[in-house]
Amino acid sequence: MQFSGQILKMISQNGHPIQYYLNLKNDLINMNQLFGKTVHIKHIGYQCVNCGSDEKTYRMGFCKKCFFESPYASDTIIRPELSTAHLGIAERNLDVEKEIQLAPHIVYLAYTGEVKVGVTREHQIPTRWIDQGATFALPIALTENRYEAGMIEVELKKHIADKTNPRKMLQDDYEDTLDLIDFRNKIAEYFPNDFKKFAVSEDNVIKLDFPYEAPENINVFTLDKKPEFSGVLRGIKGQYLSFEGGEFINVRGHEGYVIELVL
Ligand SMILES: [Zn+2]
Repeated sequence: MQFSGQILKMISQNGHPIQYYLNLKNDLINMNQLFGKTVHIKHIGYQCVNCGSDEKTYRMGFCKKCFFESPYASDTIIRPELSTAHLGIAERNLDVEKEIQLAPHIVYLAYTGEVKVGVTREHQIPTRWIDQGATFALPIALTENRYEAGMIEVELKKHIADKTNPRKMLQDDYEDTLDLIDFRNKIAEYFPNDFKKFAVSEDNVIKLDFPYEAPENINVFTLDKKPEFSGVLRGIKGQYLSFEGGEFINVRGHEGYVIELVL
């Protein structure tokens, strides 16, 4: 079977294990069914996730123009503390920014090979954790908007990581069990006073069950380096496809790439 289309991040469905779907031009391909089978990927072009332009993807699936102009690629996507929609101040497009920023947000701890702090819109849970490859996660604050969540994160990230290290995440072998509640209590002193009213003391650590076992070697490649690739799919963690021999491709990192997929 052959499919072709633009890569977007894989759609996931929480379960035991998590189910993943690759979305290629409206063909939803269940990737779990392909474990143990050979998958052939060929890079054939680009399509900006915003305007559809076929010029080379610049960042996050956007062409260069859209990356610098689209409200969906603004600084506040990466740095929530810069949000200003709650003050009625536009960055790129106030209507879009209001929709993104003026919604309940969660500040969470997640274990992705190490403990990190993160921010996401409440309705993005647990998708955000699945995309990051977090085996455990714990909400620690629920805010009314993105700015408040960002301000909490800014303080906490002075003490703990705020980015996922992909290699550590992929090496994580599930043996490490870690008490996130204990971790939350230890960092409570760093929680900013002005935002303490948003703290939540959730006792339920969420555990996510990826269809994945860590291989001995990890070699992440891109379609820029290997525009054509064949491999036997063995598992998925986060947005990384894991192939026999320790080869990995980050699907999300290739948003906007157009590929042919032969199964
Ligand atoms: Zn574009």
